[in-house]
Amino acid sequence: MIYKEYGKTKKLVSAIGFGGMRFEKENGRYNIDKCVELLAEANKLGINYFDTAPGYNDDQGEYIFGEAFKNMTKEFYVSTKSIAKSGLELRKDLERSLRRMNVDKINFFHIWCVLNMDDYKSRIVKNGAYEAALKAKEEGLIEHIVISTHCHGDEIASIIEDNLFDGITIGYNILNFPYRKNGLKAAYESGWGVATMNPLDGGIIPLNANYFEFIKSDNDKSVVETALRFNLSHKEITTVLVGFSNLEQLYENVRYCNEIRTIDESRLQAIEKKLSKTLNELCTGCRYCEKCPQGVEIPKLMIAYNQKMLKGLEQGLVCLRLDWGLSTENASLCTGCGVCENKCTQHLPIIERLKDIQNWVNN
Ligand code: SF4
Ligand code: SF4
Repeated sequence: MIYKEYGKTKKLVSAIGFGGMRFEKENGRYNIDKCVELLAEANKLGINYFDTAPGYNDDQGEYIFGEAFKNMTKEFYVSTKSIAKSGLELRKDLERSLRRMNVDKINFFHIWCVLNMDDYKSRIVKNGAYEAALKAKEEGLIEHIVISTHCHGDEIASIIEDNLFDGITIGYNILNFPYRKNGLKAAYESGWGVATMNPLDGGIIPLNANYFEFIKSDNDKSVVETALRFNLSHKEITTVLVGFSNLEQLYENVRYCNEIRTIDESRLQAIEKKLSKTLNELCTGCRYCEKCPQGVEIPKLMIAYNQKMLKGLEQGLVCLRLDWGLSTENASLCTGCGVCENKCTQHLPIIERLKDIQNWVNN
């Protein structure tokens, strides 16, 4: 395993981190023993950055991590998050995370899912979340306060100017890098550690491997290898979070990591030329928007919309009907309340897309 310094903290963190969002279910339930085994095996292979959050895996993620931590044989760092705006709420979240994972402190505690600059400002106000995190740090309950954000590159650069955090977690990959690379550069130059999430764009790359063939380098076995190699080869990125579902994926990804070959600048420029703005406007399937009060199956409909954007209307309908068993009528339940758009990590115009989906059959 390759280790890199997490910015000014000087902590040596594995180049691949365990993203705890994608454990597999069996017959509709998580097999806790299997999830724990996967985490333990990752630690044996040298992964030492373990990232989870309240709500992950039907809110069982932190318990599963806590079980695995009991028997880990190598040193490890715990990363979790709070989406709270108020100091009181953050404190409650932190204490719950400590309890669930049965640890004395969180090594990397995230002010989580900052969507835009207004949201950022709301976390750092007096008596707000950031202040509570600082107090918890003084008490030894948090080691490093970090931030996770879905902002664009310029906004990220402006957050970094405030210099309130030790590190940042951002969605960064071979498809969206033109939109975030100035933020990444600013973080590195300011001595912040950087974790990247969604290296495979939430599964969009492997699910549409033929479409993305143009990103594949000659010596790579698959577009997945190229995509991971892209993130791993950045000096600015400390750890690439991969959402492992099974041992096979774990072994494969650790192998890529042990053989890091960089992608040269001219190749990146060629890829950047081929990327259209469309690719930064895809739903990543993160499911932050999923609890629609009207019962609209938002993430599923947005994934079908991805297919329309990438391959045309017919494929959008195939995805909607065959992959998800839905009809366009589900989109018509939307009342336009806007709750989902305020939560969307990609800032997608969900309401407008739902209106479009309602008309698919009529086109
Ligand atoms: S805008 Fe529509 S889809 Fe979004 S939460 Fe409101 S009703 Fe549901
Ligand atoms: S619509 Fe937005 S919030 Fe919902 S799953 Fe897609 S990217 Fe995530």
